[in-house]
Amino acid sequence: MIRTEHFLEDAEAWLRTALAQLRAEHPDTASHTPECRQTWNRMLCEAGLVALTWPREYGGRELPTATLIAFHELCARLRAPQPINSIAHAILAPTLLRFGTAEQKALFLPGIRDGSEIWCQGYSEPQTGSDLSSVRTRARPEAAGWRVDGRKIWTTQAHLATWCFALVRTDPASRAHRGLSFMLIDMRAEGVRVEPIRQMTGEADYNEVLFEAVAVPEGRILGEPGEGWRIAMAAAEYERGIYFMPRVVQLEDELDELEAALARAPLAPAERAVHARRVQDLADACQVIRWRVDRVLRQVAAGDTPGIDGAMLKLMWSETRQQVWEQRVELLGEAAVLGPQAGAPYAGAASVQREFLWSRAETIVAGTSEIQRNIVGERLLGLPKDRGQHA
Ligand SMILES: Cc1cc2nc3c(=O)[nH]c(=O)nc-3n(C[C@H](O)[C@H](O)[C@H](O)COP(=O)(O)OP(=O)(O)OC[C@H]3O[C@@H](n4cnc5c(N)ncnc54)[C@H](O)[C@@H]3O)c2cc1C
Repeated sequence: MIRTEHFLEDAEAWLRTALAQLRAEHPDTASHTPECRQTWNRMLCEAGLVALTWPREYGGRELPTATLIAFHELCARLRAPQPINSIAHAILAPTLLRFGTAEQKALFLPGIRDGSEIWCQGYSEPQTGSDLSSVRTRARPEAAGWRVDGRKIWTTQAHLATWCFALVRTDPASRAHRGLSFMLIDMRAEGVRVEPIRQMTGEADYNEVLFEAVAVPEGRILGEPGEGWRIAMAAAEYERGIYFMPRVVQLEDELDELEAALARAPLAPAERAVHARRVQDLADACQVIRWRVDRVLRQVAAGDTPGIDGAMLKLMWSETRQQVWEQRVELLGEAAVLGPQAGAPYAGAASVQREFLWSRAETIVAGTSEIQRNIVGERLLGLPKDRGQHA
């Protein structure tokens, strides 16, 4: 039983026991697998740990944002995996609480709190990624609601999801971001098809999602029809704040591992000096990222949105993490190119390969590096505006 009045103390004790149990079932090297992340999601839900800041009327604990931040830092320090429903915890739940009607909150929040409903995010389309304002998926009004037709792509864990929050065009005459709506679509509805996409790590966590004459009842648009862009932009801000922090803690751990790998590597003195210099540069970058994340978290705890700081943090973190894993691969040498046998989980040297390959996606997901640079250039440096629309 985790008491709200002694929350962090009780949560830490619970986390240590629960993580030991999780690792017995899913060894460390497989902690990124969907099975492990599903089990972890269920354990967090059963312990009442996914609705920390929600109002009590929706089963929350009404804890302050600062406690939520401290809890996420604790999870990261203890190397907890990301729960499978983190998209719902990080993006959808706060958005529902802010923009949802009483009926929508009553319908959707319990399934997130108890882990029975898994969500995915349907924004990107084959011709629409950075420039989300060009979404083509159409929702046409019909007698009892809407009929949805279109194609989404790169939809993380759509194959496991029961619901999707999607950007759809409800006004056919509209252009750019006007006329988009934020729709909640049942993935079990007739006409929803999910096709897996295999990524270069060999895993298949992403999908193409086809909506073919999918009937969506009334009451499944968040806000008003046409307000989707504003809501999607607000939703993105939540993720850039609190939920980004565990990734920074993970990067700090990875830097420690890199330093240990350098100490172990059998290198000639001149070669060691070259690597040591690069590792020191990465350590400096990590320190700057830490200062920046602390600043972002102070803003979030004070009720502000991170804005440009969020863009800079995403940019620096993703690019530094890629360099950390490039260094690990270089130090490991040829052993790093030996992946796991077909079907086997990544383990040992091969897990370096997985993280190296996976880190390539991080300068793309949630806004590419070029888009983050545009944001910094336009909003911080006052450079002329990019003509494309972007998140
Ligand atoms: C691991 C992963 C998980 C993802 N999960 C999801 C998900 O769950 N749901 C979802 O909806 N999407 C998801 N995505 C998709 C992701 O949001 C898009 O890939 C991303 O927004 C980029 O869009 P794009 O791939 O269409 O590239 P494009 O927008 O076509 O960009 C191609 C290239 O052009 C550059 N570019 C584009 N516009 C500009 C500009 N204005 N100025 C300068 N350069 C520009 C980009 O930086 C990039 O290098 C995921 C992606 C990854 C990698």
